[in-house]
Amino acid sequence: MIVVLKPGLTQDEVQKVVERIESFGLKAHISEGTERTIIGAIGDERLMADQTLESFPGVEKVLPILKPYKLVSREFQRTDTIIKVNGHKIGGKKIHVMAGPCSVESRDQVLASAVPVKEAGATFLRGGAFKPRTSPYSFQGLGEEGLNYLAHAREVTGLPIITEVLDPRDLEIVCRFTDILQIGARNMQNFKLLTEVGKLNKPVLLKRGLSATIQEFLLSAEYIASEGNRNIILCERGIRTYETETRNTLDISAVPVLKQLTHLPIFVDPSHGTGRWDLVAPMALAGVAAGADGLLIEVHSHPEVALSDGPQSLKPQKFAALMKELKRVAEAIGRQV
Ligand code: PEP
Ligand code: MN
Repeated sequence: MIVVLKPGLTQDEVQKVVERIESFGLKAHISEGTERTIIGAIGDERLMADQTLESFPGVEKVLPILKPYKLVSREFQRTDTIIKVNGHKIGGKKIHVMAGPCSVESRDQVLASAVPVKEAGATFLRGGAFKPRTSPYSFQGLGEEGLNYLAHAREVTGLPIITEVLDPRDLEIVCRFTDILQIGARNMQNFKLLTEVGKLNKPVLLKRGLSATIQEFLLSAEYIASEGNRNIILCERGIRTYETETRNTLDISAVPVLKQLTHLPIFVDPSHGTGRWDLVAPMALAGVAAGADGLLIEVHSHPEVALSDGPQSLKPQKFAALMKELKRVAEAIGRQV
């Protein structure tokens, strides 16, 4: 980082700033100009994250050089992370589509989505057994019973499962059933959950928080990575804006921005991103065109009676049509579905 000193400091005052920098194990290089003196602090400035020099006597301004996250950054790892799950590679040339109902409602209901999405080319089955609902009176999910229905659908279709975990206390049971853990938007900054998931070697899909900046999103991923688990997929799922035509505003530019900043695979969720089934296909295609490595899409055989997120769920037939279009977009950009 560059530390800009106030004008007219004595040698002693400059020395105090130097000692402060060196007390964190960083090296201090002093450059004296005709009007100002600046100090270049060399080393991992993140070590000083909590004790910024900005309020230190004699310091006018501190200009960080490094990003506050490290392990998940492109600077740390130039090549793309490829996550291996059940024989699949996520983050490579192939675009993965994880599809299925918002909530697991019954054994038959899961199958009614799982079978056609597999036929259409999805590579993972999604479905929530523990649901983070805005209202305590809404359907909260079937819990362990729902996990059993997902396992049954995996047996029938061969599709690996992705499902959400809400609470560190449920991690053990959810891990017993799932292939990928999902951490939802509302839990993106549940640091205890991130830390616990970081201690596992189960792949995790982390969704962007409702009002999270990209930097906050990456710092949440850093929580997981810093505990040892580097198998992290990031998912853009729309953010809160003043717009009311859509449930959220899907931040498509987050895809190329994240691709620059991190080596982790990036997914897009056009279902939660828009809240409208008629917008799912165009935004799915846009997400992939922008460079996404995969999609998370809600599919329900009877959206009109779904217990959650019916308005944004595709019927299996519409999903199959989207997969065909997706193939063409993927080919156009040198990728495959
Ligand atoms: C979901 O995937 O069903 C979900 C609850 O998503 P989000 O956390 O993005 O709202
Ligand atoms: Mn949902």
